Amino acid sequence: MSERVIPLVDQRLRALAATVPALPIAATGLLSDSLGRPLSDLRISVTDRCNFRCNYCMPKEVFNKDYAYLPHSELLNFEEITRLAKVFVAHGVRKIRLTGGEPLLRKNLEILIDQLANIQTPDGTPLDLTLTTNGSLLARKAKSLKDAGLNRVTVSLDGLDDAVFRAMNDVDFPVADVLDGIAAAKDAGLGLDANGQLTGLKVNMVVKRTTNVDQILPMARHFRGSGITLRFIEYMDVGATNGWCMDDVLPSAEVIQHIQQEFPLVALEASAPGETAQRWGYANANGVFDPALGEVGVISSVTQAFCRDCNRARLSTEGKLYLCLFATQGYDLRSLMRGSQASDADIASAIGHIWHKRDDRYSELRASMPADSSPNSSSTARRVEMSYIGG
Ligand code: SF4
Repeated sequence: MSERVIPLVDQRLRALAATVPALPIAATGLLSDSLGRPLSDLRISVTDRCNFRCNYCMPKEVFNKDYAYLPHSELLNFEEITRLAKVFVAHGVRKIRLTGGEPLLRKNLEILIDQLANIQTPDGTPLDLTLTTNGSLLARKAKSLKDAGLNRVTVSLDGLDDAVFRAMNDVDFPVADVLDGIAAAKDAGLGLDANGQLTGLKVNMVVKRTTNVDQILPMARHFRGSGITLRFIEYMDVGATNGWCMDDVLPSAEVIQHIQQEFPLVALEASAPGETAQRWGYANANGVFDPALGEVGVISSVTQAFCRDCNRARLSTEGKLYLCLFATQGYDLRSLMRGSQASDADIASAIGHIWHKRDDRYSELRASMPADSSPNSSSTARRVEMSYIGG
């Protein structure tokens, strides 16, 4: 087990000014970055707090009772979030994912969801509004989230065995309650597409070689044929506190081998540009994909980077724009809304200017980086914490 590193500087304090360029950029219309990638997926963190302490994201030793969470006054309020979301949508965003920390801890989240669900896209295509949660509050909230306008939900669940689950999330929360949350989401109709098919209810499992490999097959057995898509995520070197090392990573290729010991799989096409997961369908006795059996996905940021069509931007809880999950600093958009005369067109121009310069592709470059530039070493600019900008 590698040594845990306690952050010396608070990443959240570092911010670049989001300036309104002298030559304004059109307030609407698609944007592309310096590698030709569009901006179509926005992840919005609505809180930096969580009731779990997953050791790959918010290790208990760091995020303890003395950790300085952001005061409420610092957080973007719902009107500010909605104002920014409208600007991003005008610039081509078609998918908004609410994240955290644990987003369901943010009070009255349904009010925000209602506001976001009412945003019209310039071309009339519906906005895809989704949310990632640890499922702890989902059983209680699924129906009100759906009624407020949420389309889909992704639930994090790192095993079916309570002891293994506890070893990953470091709190005494029973698996059964998360499974109840998933069932409530299904009953509420979260994840139903326009044809009434259950295509958008997903479960994500982070795989650590040292902890939960023995949960891969039980999870596959449990969700196969349920209509719920299970995805396996390679353990990532996010942030500066999780003590990441390559030895703890189980490559997705091995995850697929594990499943194929029991269930034949066939590779499937990506369902949308910029999709992070590689899709594998369960095959029937003839070796053909059987939609009734469903599919699994693998998200392989470490061994099969997918930066080349990364169309994702992240908005932190207090309004900083991050261009990569492994970024070291963000652009302060809140300062353009508080105590500033900036118009929506100015903000759109600033965002366009920032995105145009984007050249992030950390996962592609990871392997070529000198060893001491690992995000957990003290010599490099620290990466922002995943719990602060959402996964
Ligand atoms: S490493 Fe950064 S650029 Fe690459 S896929 Fe992840 S978020 Fe996108």
